[in-house]
Amino acid sequence: MLPVVELKDITHAYLGDREANLAIEDLNLTVGKGEFISLVGPSGCGKTTILSIIAGLLQPSRGEVLLSGRPVTGPSPEVGYMLQQDYLFPWRTIQDNVLLGLELTGRLTGSSRAQSLQLLADMGLAGKEKAYPAQLSGGMRQRVALVRTLATDPGLLLLDEPFSALDYQIKLQLEDLVSETLLRRGTTAILVTHDLSEAIAVSSRVILLQRNPGRVRKVFHVPEAIRSTPPLYARDLPGFAELFHEIWKEMELAGRDEM
Ligand code: ADP
Ligand code: MG
Repeated sequence: MLPVVELKDITHAYLGDREANLAIEDLNLTVGKGEFISLVGPSGCGKTTILSIIAGLLQPSRGEVLLSGRPVTGPSPEVGYMLQQDYLFPWRTIQDNVLLGLELTGRLTGSSRAQSLQLLADMGLAGKEKAYPAQLSGGMRQRVALVRTLATDPGLLLLDEPFSALDYQIKLQLEDLVSETLLRRGTTAILVTHDLSEAIAVSSRVILLQRNPGRVRKVFHVPEAIRSTPPLYARDLPGFAELFHEIWKEMELAGRDEM
C-alpha cells in the first residue's frame, strides 16, 4: 500500500543572523493510510518543525517529502493542520471560523455545514455559534480550532498539541470523539503531544524524538488490544502501564544523554 506520508533523510536548519540551528537531522518517517501516529519528546526536539514540513509550510534544508507519492511543493487542501496556537479570526463568529475552510475550498453546502455544526455541538460548544473568539476560554477556542480543521475532512490531519489547554475530563472525552471520527473517516493522522498516556491511548505507533539535533530515538508499537479500544478505556488495559513506563524510561535516558 502506498504510504500517505514519507519523510526521507530530512534535515532542517533554521538560519539566524550569525548561526544555523540544526533543528532536525536525517529524519525518516513513513505513515500508512488510516494510520494514527504520535510524536513525543522534549520541547525543542523538532515536533512542530516536522509538522510544518509535512504541511508544506516549511521547505526542509535537505531531504525529500512525499504525500501519497508526490513531492510536497506547498500547502494542500488535502492536509489539515491544527497549529499549536489556535489562530481563530477574532472578527468572525465561532460558526464563521469553523466554516471558513469549507467556504474557501468551495465546499460549503447545506450538509457540510450541518455536519460541522454538529461536530461543534459534539465538542460541547452548542450555543456558542454566534459568539466571538474573545468571549471563549482557551480550551473552548482550542476545540473550535479542532472542529475547523476537521470540518474540511482532510485525508491527512496534523495536530500540534490539540488538547493541551483542556481540562482533564474534557480532554479524555475529546480523545474519544476525535479518534472515533478519524477511524470512521479513514483519516491518516499525526499527533504531537507532551502527554505520553494520550499518545499511547490514541495511536498505533509512538515515535520518541530526542533533541540537539532532533532525531528519532525509538519507535514504540502499541499492542492491538490497546489500539482497538477507545482511548478512555484503553488506559485501564493490561500492558498500558508497562508501555507507559517503557517509554518514560527511554525518555529519561535520552535526557541523561543530553547532559
Ligand atoms: P518542538 O515543537 O519539539 O518544541 P520545534 O520544532 O519548535 O520543537 O523547534 C526545534 C528547534 O528549532 C528548537 O531548537 C527551536 O528553538 C528551533 N526553532 C524552531 N522554530 C524556529 C525558528 N522559526 N527560527 C529559529 N529557530 C527555530
Ligand atoms: Mg512545538
